[in-house]
Amino acid sequence: MGLYEEMTPGIFRICQEVRKGWIPFTMNLYALPGTAGLLFDAGSGARGAVTYAARALDALEKERGTRVRRILPSHAHWDHFSGTSALAKRRRMEVLLTEAMVPLVRTRACYRAAYQERKSALHPPRSRGREAMRNLKDRLIDEAFSLSMGLQAVTGPFSLLCVGDHVESEAGTWEVLAGPGHCDAHIMLWNASSGILLGGDNVLANITTWLGPPRSNITAYQTTLETIRDLPGLTLILPAHGRPITDPIKRTTQLIAHRKKRLAQIKEKVAAAGPQGLSGRALVQHYYPHMAPLKRSIAQGWIEATLLHLLEEGELSRTLEKGLWCYHRR
Ligand SMILES: [Zn+2]
Repeated sequence: MGLYEEMTPGIFRICQEVRKGWIPFTMNLYALPGTAGLLFDAGSGARGAVTYAARALDALEKERGTRVRRILPSHAHWDHFSGTSALAKRRRMEVLLTEAMVPLVRTRACYRAAYQERKSALHPPRSRGREAMRNLKDRLIDEAFSLSMGLQAVTGPFSLLCVGDHVESEAGTWEVLAGPGHCDAHIMLWNASSGILLGGDNVLANITTWLGPPRSNITAYQTTLETIRDLPGLTLILPAHGRPITDPIKRTTQLIAHRKKRLAQIKEKVAAAGPQGLSGRALVQHYYPHMAPLKRSIAQGWIEATLLHLLEEGELSRTLEKGLWCYHRR
């Protein structure tokens, strides 16, 4: 395979390997050439990843005699926007952002703050000393993470794009759709004439998308999945990670059912614990008994998001027991 691959006429995928080892995964950047053209998602900001994407875009323009001169991230997660500024500078591309993305991606500090105002579902805010220690630890993890994975803020000029706007390319007209749930600042691109959705992280082929506080929302995610399932004439979802989804309605229906099953499981487990209730930590232990702590802190996100959702819906209540939130069925 070359630097890029034509998925369907006029839609090109640049598959960027973010890192082998600690978190091995690949990013799909979609180039939609046109009069100005558009790159949907910018991937990692690590030098090698940016160079790879730039070479692929240069080759695409040269070989096809076409243009890809704008960049739009699908959402405010580091693996989707970090390459934006470096690519824009290197290739003189215009950056497009939605209003919701702006406060999250403009500096590393605001990105960090946006994900650290963490409403933990496991324990309440701790003493000032412990919070300071935690902030220091998070800061160190963030620095290590930025260096190794290529987290980069979106600096420099940008133009605003809104939900409902349309973007033209050789592959037709794309409508900007809202797609919150996995991340509140998440958009998708929908081509009504071909029935193709560039879905970002909302629907993935082999794994369920990550959910967790503070920027995921279970209700919004369910609504987004239902919106996707009901898109008239949906034929193909091109996701930001993994292979294309050629049975989009079946896959989306599976994911809706999976989330409902997870909701029911958490409610049942809390109910089964009886009057003394069940701590969030015990639930995490139940689902991930042998997982390494760092990996588990990522995996447990959906449990926390689900507990907070059920609390908000009034289906659960909670009390503080020995420094941990303990949940009760109402
Ligand atoms: Zn994401």
